[in-house]
Amino acid sequence: MDYDDLLNRGKSGLPENVETRGRFEVPAARVLQQGKKTTVINFGDICDSLNREQDTVAKYLLRELGTAGSRREGRLTLNGAFTADSVNAVIKKYVESYVMCRECHLPDTKLQKEGRRTFIRCEACGARYGVD
Ligand SMILES: [Zn+2]
Repeated sequence: MDYDDLLNRGKSGLPENVETRGRFEVPAARVLQQGKKTTVINFGDICDSLNREQDTVAKYLLRELGTAGSRREGRLTLNGAFTADSVNAVIKKYVESYVMCRECHLPDTKLQKEGRRTFIRCEACGARYGVD
């Protein structure tokens, strides 16, 4: 699949997945808005597909969206009204920065903490590099 195919897929209808590259599929966020709160009801599934701790992903989402929130039983509730699109955009950014290996573009990576720094270690190609 080349880049144009990805773009075309992106344009056709509602996205089923945030990112599709071979077997790597991240479910699109399903959100429930109630007043001034937004709940991502499949947050746990999203984190599972990324192979990341819910805590880590939640912190990133809250920071990027500039809000506070709480997590309970695989759901993430955000203070404020957010659309599924805006949540998906942040998750996509997270995937690009913290999940996809920048060398081989596969998602088979792990985060490693060393002191204050975080490294991405790719199990597919062996690359290791620091991220902010
Ligand atoms: Zn790699």
